[in-house]
Amino acid sequence: MSIKENLLQIQSSLPENVTLVAVSKTKPVSDLMEAYDAGQRIFGENKIQEMTDKWEQMPKDIQWHMIGHVQTNKVKYMAEYVHLIHGVDSLKLLEEINKQAAKHHRVIDCLLQIYIAEEESKFGLDEKELQELLNSEEFKSLQNINVIGLMGMATFTDNKTQIKKEFEYLKSVFDTFKIQNSKFKILSMGMSGDYKLAIECGSTMVRIGSSIFGGR
Ligand SMILES: *Cc1c(COP(=O)(O)O)cnc(C)c1O
Repeated sequence: MSIKENLLQIQSSLPENVTLVAVSKTKPVSDLMEAYDAGQRIFGENKIQEMTDKWEQMPKDIQWHMIGHVQTNKVKYMAEYVHLIHGVDSLKLLEEINKQAAKHHRVIDCLLQIYIAEEESKFGLDEKELQELLNSEEFKSLQNINVIGLMGMATFTDNKTQIKKEFEYLKSVFDTFKIQNSKFKILSMGMSGDYKLAIECGSTMVRIGSSIFGGR
């Protein structure tokens, strides 16, 4: 199937309240343009340099989402245009995003990444760290960032029960913090292999790459 067919098929299978981020990392601009021409306007990348190159070359009505781990010293390259940063996992990073956003007179939307997987390698905060971050005076003083929800990545496994448990846990954290935090509205969870399960568990934003663009 073509990129367009993949995209339209996935798009039509999503509930109305779920947003699709087309994850285009490593793919050439021509592939992204195929998705763009089929109506897709939200793209996700995991490297700031690559995302910036694509942003420069592509139509300006695209919303660029940074879904990868962000290095503090590279925030400045995307501060002018990035629409949503999914993987924020420290106050230090939020402070840098705030600083760079201010230079462009912008308020940048961010999601805080929560650690839900069993693997050691995944980034993210635990529930206690999330609580501390959101309650800190430093956080409350940041005027140029907007934390609008949470993001998580499940363990890389075929064990659906395990993945479901992790997604349900993230949803419960989201619901708890949503009560205290009126800005919380996005729960980013689910990739090509597990997005249907993620939606069943309450995801409002899925990040899908290989099922649209093919393997990497
Ligand atoms: C690459 C990536 C995705 C998309 O993965 P697919 O399995 O290709 O759908 C989603 N989220 C993050 C954080 C990624 O790095």
